[in-house]
Amino acid sequence: KVRVRFAPSPTGALHIGGVRTALYNYLFARQHGGDLVFRIEDTDSNRFVPGAEEYIIESFRWLGIKFDEGVSFGGEHGPYRQSERRSIYKKYVEQLLAADKAYIAFDTPEQLEAKRAEIQNFQYDARTRGEMTNSLTLPKEEVERRIADGEQYVVRFKVEPGIDVHIDDMIRGHVVIKSDILDDKVLYKSADELPTYHLANIVDDHLMEITHVIRGEEWLPSAPLHVLLYRAFGWEDTMPTFAHLPLLLKPEGKGKLSKRDGDRLGFPVFPLEWHDPKTGDVSSGYRESGYFPEAVVNFLALLGWNPGTEQELFTLDELVEAFDIHKCSKAGARFDYQKGIWFNHEYMLKKSNEEVANLFAPIVANNGVDETMERITQVVAMMKDRVNFVKELWPLCSFFFIAPTEYDEKTVKKRWKADSAKVMGELADVLEGIDDFSVEGQEPVVMKWVEEKGYKLGDVMNAFRLTLVGIGKGPGMFDISAFLGKEETLKRMRKAIE
Ligand code: GLU
Repeated sequence: KVRVRFAPSPTGALHIGGVRTALYNYLFARQHGGDLVFRIEDTDSNRFVPGAEEYIIESFRWLGIKFDEGVSFGGEHGPYRQSERRSIYKKYVEQLLAADKAYIAFDTPEQLEAKRAEIQNFQYDARTRGEMTNSLTLPKEEVERRIADGEQYVVRFKVEPGIDVHIDDMIRGHVVIKSDILDDKVLYKSADELPTYHLANIVDDHLMEITHVIRGEEWLPSAPLHVLLYRAFGWEDTMPTFAHLPLLLKPEGKGKLSKRDGDRLGFPVFPLEWHDPKTGDVSSGYRESGYFPEAVVNFLALLGWNPGTEQELFTLDELVEAFDIHKCSKAGARFDYQKGIWFNHEYMLKKSNEEVANLFAPIVANNGVDETMERITQVVAMMKDRVNFVKELWPLCSFFFIAPTEYDEKTVKKRWKADSAKVMGELADVLEGIDDFSVEGQEPVVMKWVEEKGYKLGDVMNAFRLTLVGIGKGPGMFDISAFLGKEETLKRMRKAIE
């Protein structure tokens, strides 16, 4: 059975690239009838940020990306928070030590620093470990004494040189790396009695029966180490298949997308607004900026993968159908945030008027207007194709609900003619005589009157618009007057010419 996982470290807000990684894992799990596990990798206590875990969970709830098991979801492979799995890791560290696949090292940070200053590009590996302070160079008794004395140590992985490490990546194909370039990574620290990311990650993927590891490209350099760890444990047969996803690039196309790009160009890089507990800084989120979660999901799905057809709009279920991890690109995906705005507009059109009206109604109420849902829905139907976000509706269509108190000066200058007041007075009388005040009821009567009088239709309509709306733009005039109704229409017209 396919089992994949999303395993963030709770070090702050979830970056939009992380959301895409989780989404691809979700699509892969769903299309294979598999499970998606949510694991929290919090073994680095220095980088722990309170609230980050809750933030990540809430982000996925909003986006509609569901996990099958994990932190807050339960399951049979728990606990799913690495800080709660200390005792489990300990055993595996000892297994590697006993098998001579790892060793204990006492080098202090100062000693390592001095080495780095002395030797350019110093790397702790097969060539240098003989000069260091570790269980390979010290007598066994001394190692035991130092540990008994409470000296802090780390456990390092003993990377054998001269090995070709093969990785079959679902996106990158067959990759071969020489083990000589790898260093003896720290797997465990006695100081906090916790493993590092690498060990915890491999042990958990194994125990949680993960079959495919789908993660960001930044983890590709760690993959050979991970393969060697599986081998050292004797778990090669069940080693997961890797897929390293392309980076998200700046909107300009070069360099990795960063939070600063969002600040600079004015788009969010986080799913939800984030209040940094350390700095107090607030970063904008897609949700608070007015994006529909479906639009964000659709937008992200196409950053690094495409279906090979013209189709751009996909529901989550359609993505499950169409997604193909093997068709992900190796090259980075340019983060075209304008395209994200386009997606939001498309989802605005896709959504029913009622759905949009439900989101718009609180804004109407907040502006002190008491309107029925039915009438708010009518306005949405007329206006939603003109906006990308629900919040853009009010400034565009407040006139439906509130009579103009002033008239746009420029428009008045251009469109209010010498005889406009007189003509509007006449039009008001014509409208007053119409019983059926629908668009169909008004239009032919007004047209006939304009023709009989020999007025210029454009002039009449421009003046009519000014009296009802106060500005020069908006939907069709009879749509507006029909919505306002006879009484309100006449009231606004007469007020404008008094
Ligand atoms: N905890 C790692 C992260 O924060 C997970 C990397 C992986 O998927 O192996 O991205």
